[in-house]
This record gives sequence, C-alpha cells and structure tokens, in this order.
Amino acid sequence: MSVSTFRDLKNQEVLVVFADEAKKIQGSWNDSVLKDYLKVPLENDFRAKFREPLLVYTHSHPTTKRVLVLGLGKKSDISLQNFRNLGASLAGALKNKNVKSHASVLVPKVGKFKTAEIVEALQTGASVYQFQFTELKSAESLKKNPPSKPIELQFIVEAKDLKQAGAAESKAKATAEGVNWGRRLVAMSPRQLYPVQLTKEVEKMVKASPSKSKIKMTVWGETELKKHAYGGVLAVNQGSENEAQFIVLQYSNGGKSSKPMALVGKGVTFDSGGLSLKPPQAQETMKYDMAGAASVLSAFKITVDLQLKTNLVCVVPSVENMPSGAAQKPGDVITMASGKTVEVLNTDAEGRLILADALFHATTQFKPKAVIDVATLTGACALAVGEAAAGLYGTDEKLKKGLEKASAESGEHIWRLPDFEEFYGDQMNSDVADLRNIGKSREAGATTAGIFLRAFVKNDIPWAHLDIAGCGWYDAPRGFVGARGPSGVPIRLLAKFIEQNL
Ligand SMILES: [Zn+2]
Repeated sequence: MSVSTFRDLKNQEVLVVFADEAKKIQGSWNDSVLKDYLKVPLENDFRAKFREPLLVYTHSHPTTKRVLVLGLGKKSDISLQNFRNLGASLAGALKNKNVKSHASVLVPKVGKFKTAEIVEALQTGASVYQFQFTELKSAESLKKNPPSKPIELQFIVEAKDLKQAGAAESKAKATAEGVNWGRRLVAMSPRQLYPVQLTKEVEKMVKASPSKSKIKMTVWGETELKKHAYGGVLAVNQGSENEAQFIVLQYSNGGKSSKPMALVGKGVTFDSGGLSLKPPQAQETMKYDMAGAASVLSAFKITVDLQLKTNLVCVVPSVENMPSGAAQKPGDVITMASGKTVEVLNTDAEGRLILADALFHATTQFKPKAVIDVATLTGACALAVGEAAAGLYGTDEKLKKGLEKASAESGEHIWRLPDFEEFYGDQMNSDVADLRNIGKSREAGATTAGIFLRAFVKNDIPWAHLDIAGCGWYDAPRGFVGARGPSGVPIRLLAKFIEQNL
C-alpha cells in the first residue's frame, strides 16, 4: 500500500504539495525547514493558478530533494474533477523534470472533500494521464524513445485516514487499469484487432481476473450466428474476410435470484461504411468504432477485478463493415434475430443492426433488471455535443437518472437527446419492411437511431442508450486524458453506475 503519514517519510526524490489561492500549503505537515525553503519562491515565482507548477530545490534538506508545488486555483471552483486534472498535472510535471520512479504527495485538506475522495481522484488522473500505446513502434524507435515507466505515487495522509485512503487508492488503480485496458483495444490497428482477436483479448482478460471462476464466457462465430439466425450481425459482416464474433460474458457474484444488469457494446473493429463507403478522411479513425465494446468490456473488467457483489452480463457483437462483392446492398431487406425485417438503405448505419440483435439477445436470454448499450453510433450525436458528452436516450426515467448521477460523480458528461415522439416516432417506418435503418429525413439522426434500437428491447426491460460517437475519441489532449486518441469515456461512468446499483 502506498499511503503513509508524514512522520513515516524517508528519503524522497520529490514531494508534491498543493497551495491555495493565498499560496498557503494545504494538508497536514509540520516540517518548518521545508517551509523555509518554499517561502521566497512561493512569494515571488508563483501565482497559485489552477494546475500551475512550481519546482523548488531543497539542497541540504535531510529527506527531500525537491518540492513540486501545484496551484489549486480558486477555492470555490475546486471539484473532484479538478483533482483528477491535478493528478495529471503532477504526473506531467514530474515527467518533465525527469522524475523516474516515485513521488510523495501531501494530500490537501480542501472544502467538503474526504481525504479518500481526493486520493482516488488524484490517482485516477495520474494513471489515466500516463497511458501510452507503443506496441506498434519498431525496436529501433523504442530504443531511441523508450516508453516511460509509470510514476508511483505515495500519498501522505493523517493516521486516521490511512485505511480509507489506501482502499481508495487501490480502487482508483483498478479502475484506471480498466480504463487504459479499453483504450489500448481502441488504439490497436484494425489489422491487429479484428473480431476474432477481440475475443482473444477478452479471453486473456478473463483468465487474468481474480474472479475468473465466477465468469462464464460464450462466443458464437459464424456457424452459431447462422444457426440462431442473427441476421443483423451476419448482414453487416458479410462483406468482410474476417469472421464475426458474438461475445457474451456473465459474472455471477450476487444473489442467486437477483437479476443481472446487462451491458451491450458496439464492436465494429473497422467501419469503412460498407458499400455506402465513407470518404477517406472519415475512415482514418474508424478503428474506434468498437469503442462501445471496449467501454462495456472495461466496465466489466473493473467490476470483476474489484470483485463487486453483483450479477453482470456483457454482450458484444463484433464485426467488420467492408465493401466487397459479398457485402450487403442498399435496398436489401434482412431478417433480424427477433424476426423483425429491416430495409437497409445505408450500409454505413450498421451499428444499430448488430446492436439490435445484441439487445434482443440480452433482453430475452437474461431478462436483466436493466440494459444499457454503448455505441459510437451517429455522426449526428458527435455534431450535436462534440467531444464533451455522450448522448443519452432510453425508455426508463429511473435508469436515465441513475446514469446522470454516475455521470456527475465520475465527471464523464452525458446529455439527453431530444425525445419528441410525435415528430420522430414514424421516421424509421419502412414501406417494404418493418423498419428502415436510416430516418426518412436527416433530422434528429441520433434520436432516430435510438428509436430503431428501442424496437429490439424485449420484455419491457428498462433500457438506456449512450451514443459516444463524439466523446469516445479525442482529437487533442483534454482534461487528464494526456494524448489524442481513445478517451476511455464513459468507462468510469459505467463502472460507477454498476457500483451504485449492485
Ligand atoms: Zn457506420
């Protein structure tokens, strides 16, 4: 455990402390010698702005070589999200200063926040910030620019807070590990990660989990999908040389009679658009079209790694959407797993076809207490909310409120999609089949995708849909996500929601 009290401090490369807007160091410490070292630099070189760093060398101090001061900014603005960002700032500042292995962090006492909450937020921000994806670099380039080892943080708290702070730190580490595991899946090249390889990555994750005896994994390939007539999954994948996969995970660690929560994630490992081909630039990031799958699988990983007492199901349909002589064609009518028929008018609106079969599967096979699907589903959602939020749609007010609560606490935003039934309700009706896969007009495309999915949720099970087309991938570093690429959103939100609804 790397939490300790100030008294236990021995030699340290660097001590991190936080200063409020009055430049006062926050937290319990009583080293007057160190305070003397800081006096002049704090007064002259520092404004204590939020995330502002100040590094002070402490030449002859017996235990501490350097002190990094970070500004907390205005006291009234401080939130847990700010502490996540500060976790990233301290990791970034330490890296810049070539701190190689570990640092001690004096946990500040600020506002209404508990010490454990601040520890969790700082560790989360630092761990998520330090994600690197270097496995596709050559040995030669890795030799020149070796990936940096993550910096271990040792949190300094008061003796009475040791136990809770230690637990918070472990939880933050397991959560961030889950987030970064998912981000790696999204970052992988589509040549590396196609559906069968996704199955292999999930198998590895299950094998390494402390809960593996409580997890059941079932995978359907082409044969089983055909046998069960999962027409949505099969139709989308029929232009691809790679086999489709239908991955189902069941974690049973709750009451025998208590219904599971179900997560469904879109796993399109590459989306070219199919015959409704995307323009080249739009294809550049389309390996991320499995970020929904990565999100729900990561939330599953966090839940099983933390060995939460609950029952959880995860359903991931995984395909490649490719154009070829065998690909589905605009105008095709396909029969879905539920028996409903769909007129496919745009082969780039494929996510909803595989999700429809997966929602049908989740709600008929497991009768869950609720089902949440996560998908990089529509450009319309990305246009409406940008990278800031996931679009939320669904049938159940209580479920939506629960997700909004988890959103507020995790700092991962969601935004309700417009839901005016009298305007959008008939947009997905087809002349020749039961449904069409795109709206009759382009209006409210994120909502009409939701209306399509709704038709496949069975047994009146409460359902919510998160469209992460905008927030699943960041075009530039944001907050405590330190690099362009997979954001890991909304993994922490989902993990928090599961924890709050055991
Ligand atoms: Zn598409």
